[in-house]
Amino acid sequence: MTVRIDKKIKGYAVVTPDDKAKETAKAAAPAPAAEPEDNVIQMHERIERPEVLIGSTYKIKSPLVEHAMYVTINDIVLNAGNEHEHRRPFEIFINCKSMEHFQWIVALTRIMSAVFRKGGDVTFIVDEMKAVFDPRGGYFKAGGVYMPSLVAELGHIVEDHLKSIGMLHDPEMSDHQRALIAEKRKQFEERSKKNADAGSAGLTGSAADHPEDIEVTGEGATFPPSATMCHKCSTKALVLMDGCATCLNCGYSKCG
Ligand SMILES: [Zn+2]
Repeated sequence: MTVRIDKKIKGYAVVTPDDKAKETAKAAAPAPAAEPEDNVIQMHERIERPEVLIGSTYKIKSPLVEHAMYVTINDIVLNAGNEHEHRRPFEIFINCKSMEHFQWIVALTRIMSAVFRKGGDVTFIVDEMKAVFDPRGGYFKAGGVYMPSLVAELGHIVEDHLKSIGMLHDPEMSDHQRALIAEKRKQFEERSKKNADAGSAGLTGSAADHPEDIEVTGEGATFPPSATMCHKCSTKALVLMDGCATCLNCGYSKCG
């Protein structure tokens, strides 16, 4: 085949078999795929903010800050009224009386809001934030959950919020796993009761009346006060059973 070239040659590329395959795929693909997706609006940065947004405000009380912090996350409702209706986070604000954290809070919330408005899978910021550690040390929340920093607690709030609007889901615990945790828990409770009975023979007074009290914590979960921190679920629920550290919250066991 002869091709006559009328124009000046400014550059060239060799057509590889790969390119040809792409070309044919392009020609074949678009017709069936494009049609149903057309009407569904997804989050993207050109969506304009409506006058009114709905949202939730969460309270943080941390020993690292003198006053409580109030975290507001507002959502936009996309495809309202039809089967594709869904909520997506649109903006985040943090209010606090203390001014000491003001500058990084302003920076963080503006960047987070920008990420929300970009759309796509914004759930990655949850893991990023939860992995932030304060070099001065973290703190325990009610329920024995360890917060390595204020930023990590914000990450937990964003996670809770994304769960509440259906963007994130709790990993399903298998029935087997649940049964195992219940079993370990029962064993532990029986054992500490037995120990207490044995101890009370020689003891009088309050120490014997209150064996390993099972502490009722803020979130309704009960773990013995002697429990230590589980590094897997960050909860004070790790007890020693048969010489093996076992978590009564998530089922983690050092011995597998
Ligand atoms: Zn655990």
